[in-house]
Amino acid sequence: VEDDGMEISSIQIFIQEEPECQVLSQNPCLPSDESCNNLHSSLKPRNYQLELALPAQKGKNTIICAPTGCGKTFVSLLICEHHLRSFPHGQKGKVVFFANQIPVYEQQETVFSRHFERLGYSVAGVSGATTENVSVQHIIENYDIIILTPQILVNSLNNGTIPSLSVFTLMIFDECHNTSKNHPYNQIMFRYLDHKLGQSPDPLPQVIGLTASVGVGDAKTVDEAMLHICKLCAALDVSVIATVRDNVEELEQVVYKPQKIFRKVESRTTNTFKSIISQLMRETEKLAKNVSEELGKLFQIQNREFGTQKYEQWIVDVHKACMVFQMADKEEESRICRVLFLYTSHLRKYNDALIISEDAQMKDALNYLKAFFHDVREAAFDETEQDLTRNFEEKLEELENVSMDPSNENPKLRDLYLILQEEYHLKPETKTILFVKTRALVDALKKWIEENPALSFLKPGILTGRGKTNQATGMTLPAQKYALEAFRASGDNNILIATSVADEGIDIAQCNLVILYEYVGNVIKMIQTRGRGRARDSKCFLLTSNADVIEKEKANMFKEKIMNESISRLQAWDKIKFEEKVHHIQMQEKLIRDSQHKPQPVPDKENKKLLCGKCKAFACYTADVRVVEKSHYTVLGEAFKERFVSKPHPKPKIYDSFEKKAKIFCAIQNCRHDWGIHVKYKTFEIPVIKIESFVVEDIASGAQNRHSKWKDFRFERIQFDPAEMSN
Ligand SMILES: [Zn+2]
Repeated sequence: VEDDGMEISSIQIFIQEEPECQVLSQNPCLPSDESCNNLHSSLKPRNYQLELALPAQKGKNTIICAPTGCGKTFVSLLICEHHLRSFPHGQKGKVVFFANQIPVYEQQETVFSRHFERLGYSVAGVSGATTENVSVQHIIENYDIIILTPQILVNSLNNGTIPSLSVFTLMIFDECHNTSKNHPYNQIMFRYLDHKLGQSPDPLPQVIGLTASVGVGDAKTVDEAMLHICKLCAALDVSVIATVRDNVEELEQVVYKPQKIFRKVESRTTNTFKSIISQLMRETEKLAKNVSEELGKLFQIQNREFGTQKYEQWIVDVHKACMVFQMADKEEESRICRVLFLYTSHLRKYNDALIISEDAQMKDALNYLKAFFHDVREAAFDETEQDLTRNFEEKLEELENVSMDPSNENPKLRDLYLILQEEYHLKPETKTILFVKTRALVDALKKWIEENPALSFLKPGILTGRGKTNQATGMTLPAQKYALEAFRASGDNNILIATSVADEGIDIAQCNLVILYEYVGNVIKMIQTRGRGRARDSKCFLLTSNADVIEKEKANMFKEKIMNESISRLQAWDKIKFEEKVHHIQMQEKLIRDSQHKPQPVPDKENKKLLCGKCKAFACYTADVRVVEKSHYTVLGEAFKERFVSKPHPKPKIYDSFEKKAKIFCAIQNCRHDWGIHVKYKTFEIPVIKIESFVVEDIASGAQNRHSKWKDFRFERIQFDPAEMSN
């Protein structure tokens, strides 16, 4: 479910290794291959997989740390099977497997069902998408193996439907490096540790964690890294870290580490485009500064640089501050808020355009701005917008000329072109994944490839994350799957331009060329990106004009080195010493946790006003808001219908029980702020609003707040009731 006003139910996104297909035969198979479906008929573990499974099979709580693509899921099958078989007649084990991401969850459910149902064990799964009609308690009682998204267990423990973790005999955490801070994994382990350290007599389950990288946090030395890893072990109550040590050669034959190549490229030397846009930004900032004495101060910050992510952050903060600005004179407040909304939105778009022109062609940036100003004209188009549009149009011809001038070609693209030429010349069947920073850059680079006759051998596809950004809504899961299928099927696409989907558990098929185009991440992400280039002879290029990016990547490689060093030192430690260390950390952390114990947030039952986020016009009361299918919010009553206008949706769509029909906007003539959509739901035509479009005002105190997501907004949620609609 994507798009305006529709929010994915509160599934948190964390760093994620791609789900693995069990590579059991000599030839690695693609997930779409038939051979994968015959998993059970070809169960022959490799030696390194047996090595990894051994400590867990001896009953030890273990973290299994092994590279992406080596078949860790299969190792967990081995452990699980051994565990279930180890019970004497008359006793039964119960296994729970946690997966953070829906695609991983789906894949695990399939793999476990296929494997274990044949052996006579029952397998069931519960994810955020399926909780509605099932009793979690019933499933846990009646099945041998349960696949869960962790938040579900946290909820069941919190509301008491599951009294204790003692119901399980084995818990497996996929991507276990996430067990920190307030992640649901850690919340589960807090329960476990309270139980253990409180010396409750009930038995606790064995704990297994799977990861490609335990990470080192901010560690700069091996000692600090060892402490970081000990903390993770303490969080999971682990006494053994299993890595491949006896069968390294065999592992290296399966998991190939692509060669990493750093390419420092040059930026443009002169940049007229940038100077013109920067001038427009300075003028817009000046106009904004003069709107209000009080808010003008926000614009007096020194040393901010146009065209940076930092500027983006700053302007978003200013934008938010302006939305909740209050005055005694409500009409004046409305005027000021609306005008500043426009200035800050324009500044964001100009900043986006500079980011695009830095990494792609000037004309892409210019087209981006032209599309924005076209939309502005189509909407309310009040006096302020007309002024801003005029300022832009005065420069338009000059901008067009600059962007058409061949001498302004982006030297970074020239480098990218050379790499692609060379690699496809050497190996015409090359499959490439090109990672870029933003969604707008994905579109710009796709266009650049398609319009460049010398790159006609490339057939680009795109893949973007599911999250919503300021620039665009994300791709839905089915759309992601479709894009990947087209990439896998030979002939359709041979280059995939992607944003950071690495975090979403998407299984990217084999590719032999990974290009990180001005793209950098942390050490866990780096190991995962490398895992994507699974095919032999694969290469990974890091292309950047910024020496810092190369330094940062080298720092990541250094972190990986100290991580490996730390693990082997810890493995050499005496067993007692290690257990004592872990126990000490657990006691310390529990002490801290207990002393900071905060009461559960209670929903705020006070009725509140929702005001238009742009012009502050009254929209509705929270008491009129109803929740539809858990994650969508509508407003009851005839009065609300007067407060918005609708326009047919440019992309009408049907998903689940919803049919998206129109977009809705603030009814105030010179505002027309985007409020959400209008849908057909069952037999009803209802508006669905997004909270980010509104400001929440407390009726008693008059205090104003804003929320980007419904789930962050504490108020009494009332379920949608069809009976109420007929009243
Ligand atoms: Zn409005």
